[in-house]
Amino acid sequence: MSIDFDAVIIGAGFGGMYMLHKLRQKGFTARVFEAGKGVGGTWYWNRYPGARCDVESVQYSYQFDPDLEQEWEWSERYATQPELLRYANHVADRYDLRRDIRFETRVSRAVFDETANLWQVETGQVGGAAAKVTARFVITAMGCLSSPNTPKIPGLEDFEGPTYHTGNWPHEGVDFTGKTVGVIGTGSSAIQSIPVMAEQAKHLTVFQRTANYTVPAHNKPLDPGYVREVKANYREMRRRAKTKPAGIDFTINSASAVETPEEERIRQFQARWDYGGLGFMASFSDLLLNDDSNRFAADFVRAKIGEVVKDPKTAAALVPKNIIGCKRLCVDTGYWATFNRPNVTLVDISDEPIERITPTGLRAKGEDFAVDCLVLATGFDAMTGALLKVDFRGRGGITLKERWNEGPKTYLGLTVVDFPNLFMITGPGSPSVLTNMLPSIEQHVDFIADCLETLRNKGKTVIEPVPEAQEEWVGHVGDVSNITLRSTCSSWYVGANIPGKPRVFMPYIGGLPAYIQACEKVVANGYEGFALA
Ligand SMILES: Cc1cc2nc3c(=O)[nH]c(=O)nc-3n(C[C@H](O)[C@H](O)[C@H](O)COP(=O)(O)OP(=O)(O)OC[C@H]3O[C@@H](n4cnc5c(N)ncnc54)[C@H](O)[C@@H]3O)c2cc1C
Repeated sequence: MSIDFDAVIIGAGFGGMYMLHKLRQKGFTARVFEAGKGVGGTWYWNRYPGARCDVESVQYSYQFDPDLEQEWEWSERYATQPELLRYANHVADRYDLRRDIRFETRVSRAVFDETANLWQVETGQVGGAAAKVTARFVITAMGCLSSPNTPKIPGLEDFEGPTYHTGNWPHEGVDFTGKTVGVIGTGSSAIQSIPVMAEQAKHLTVFQRTANYTVPAHNKPLDPGYVREVKANYREMRRRAKTKPAGIDFTINSASAVETPEEERIRQFQARWDYGGLGFMASFSDLLLNDDSNRFAADFVRAKIGEVVKDPKTAAALVPKNIIGCKRLCVDTGYWATFNRPNVTLVDISDEPIERITPTGLRAKGEDFAVDCLVLATGFDAMTGALLKVDFRGRGGITLKERWNEGPKTYLGLTVVDFPNLFMITGPGSPSVLTNMLPSIEQHVDFIADCLETLRNKGKTVIEPVPEAQEEWVGHVGDVSNITLRSTCSSWYVGANIPGKPRVFMPYIGGLPAYIQACEKVVANGYEGFALA
């Protein structure tokens, strides 16, 4: 059987785009299949009002080409979705990526042919015929947060008005002027979009199952002097970022919150609060290791709610009950203050789920809420959702679904036993969603491209992890997650938002530096843990 491409890449977000560029640089042929009509992945689909990154733009950007980072100008501290999408398109143009990407083409199945040592990849084009291509390698760049979760609420299909999911927002935008809107969910996307939608809608009713922690973004236009300084020292900033567990260059206070006197503790929290953003969790080194330390940080944030929200009942309902950092910390602009608006109502459904959706609204807590439209800010089937929608078949016809029926198991978050020549960019078992994703993506892409080059140089055509190496890595991922408080509570990190999903802490929480070191050791030892043939 002939081989059409050295590699098929699935997805044209930041991961797939850089993978294509890198493979071309190394002289490999590659074809990208992308379900959407354009590049950008997350920033192509998540067009809801208020969507923006929560890692500062100067860091949430590619670093593989110093010229690119010098020429691109970010306008705000946290770029909006349209700006991020412009950036993705700029990258696609700059490196002439589109000619090797097939848009509106979804990969449905990929079967490993054990005789020819290649993958047969089946695609279905939107409105077109199914097609098959063959490739030596398949590289998934399908995203950790790309499979929107639509909860099974009785009656949802009977609703007569429009329903929008934040993760698949209409490209033409939505005009909420004069509309009554029901929002289900209060995670990151809801916290970003609620303040913006509330400015337009006649009335917004927010249905909250779990109150979440959020810290102010203090977003602002970027000062040209600051940008000049960043650009003059970009390489050093990128290097520093890779020495931090989250791959973000902010200062981590090495002190313990419990061992710090109260006055100083509050001062530290307040300084981070005033600066804004995710660095709040680096106020002390033990916020995710020690219950008391975590409670100090949680109480600091909880107390802020009462200072902003005027109605005591609403303020009380907005107070998160779980530990801080259990779920992804949200970064907001005016979220709590939005609940002071006369056109916004919070309905706390923590004790009773929504009864049903009716043709004209929702029924919850024995009350009917009439709404013109529904917004589902209900997140994603994270980390494994997109992967398991494809019928991957490895050795002996085993499916990835079968292999992962007790939760995802990988070697380095990159490869899976019995799935030779299959690589995953930011797969489960890698730091991925616990980090600034751009450096994590680039590290994976570089690892994969170097690996393919090594195989070519050695005259090898097959690489796959050995079971012992995978078991050891899975054990290590589990062990480090057990050290932190994060594994003790329900979040999408453990699949708790998807009924029936095995409860496993999916990302690697050991931090980016430890992870990079582990990968480097594997390479230095001749791809230790892998079998090459
Ligand atoms: C609202 C939101 C805000 C975020 N903010 C940040 C942030 O501030 N900082 C940060 O580090 N991370 C953030 N993330 C995480 C973000 O997903 C990553 O930063 C990054 O964009 C992921 O890039 P990717 O290429 O790996 O995946 P994605 O951007 O998700 O792209 C995957 C692509 O694969 C395609 N695809 C999937 N399955 C198939 C298939 N079977 N066939 C064909 N195509 C397929 C999808 O259509 C999609 O375009 C955010 C995520 C969301 C949802």
